[in-house]
Amino acid sequence: MPDSSHSRPTSRRQFFRQLVAGGLTAGFLANQAWAAPGNQMTHRVQRGDTLSEIATAYGVSIRDLKRINGLKGDLIRIGQVLKVPNTRATDVLAPVIAATKATRVDRYRWRYIVAHHSAIENGNAEIYGREHTRRGMRHGLAYHFVIGNGIDSGDGEIEIGPRWHKQLRGGHVRSSHVNDVGIGICMVGNFENHRPTDRQHASFLQLVDYLREGQVSPDCKFTVHKWVDRAHTLCPGKHFPYDEMKQRYM
Ligand SMILES: [Zn+2]
Repeated sequence: MPDSSHSRPTSRRQFFRQLVAGGLTAGFLANQAWAAPGNQMTHRVQRGDTLSEIATAYGVSIRDLKRINGLKGDLIRIGQVLKVPNTRATDVLAPVIAATKATRVDRYRWRYIVAHHSAIENGNAEIYGREHTRRGMRHGLAYHFVIGNGIDSGDGEIEIGPRWHKQLRGGHVRSSHVNDVGIGICMVGNFENHRPTDRQHASFLQLVDYLREGQVSPDCKFTVHKWVDRAHTLCPGKHFPYDEMKQRYM
């Protein structure tokens, strides 16, 4: 994917991608007159908008967006005013952006983004970090990021591991090469039994989009644990949204 972070948006799609990557700015809100009364904002549908792009831009699932607006199908029309939650797309990303700015990311080092589930319902970055240290991993938490499910960290909260702060290799797959050049993102939960929560799902997309839109090189590949370690793991489980990720990132 080309790097669009330093160029002016030339299409609605690119525009939305920058919106997600850069967040909703006050100037932007004023210009577009997307009013923010109370806990809800509205979005006036423009030519080329899709439900999926609007959902991503506001960090909400398509299912929730449809439910909030009482939409039965996927059809939206130009000029239609949709209610959107006043959770800015940058909220869950803010700590990631701050941590990433504070470290020096060698964007050509990272060749893979590898998705994982934790295979258990409980846990967070600290708990997994302790366990990984106990198992003898020198740098503790094997993943670079952990996305919570609301049990031991916030639902959709993105926790940043020491390996991202220090730009260290991961310890999340068997392959030493992929650990050297792969960013590990773990969602808490056992996706053999159920899907990620809506907020986890939205945060995962925002995080991967953010990394791909300027933090890593355009040819950094999206993959999942079991495609790397074939025959050794079910991770990230049969309910992980493989088809959606293939369409979006591959
Ligand atoms: Zn895994």
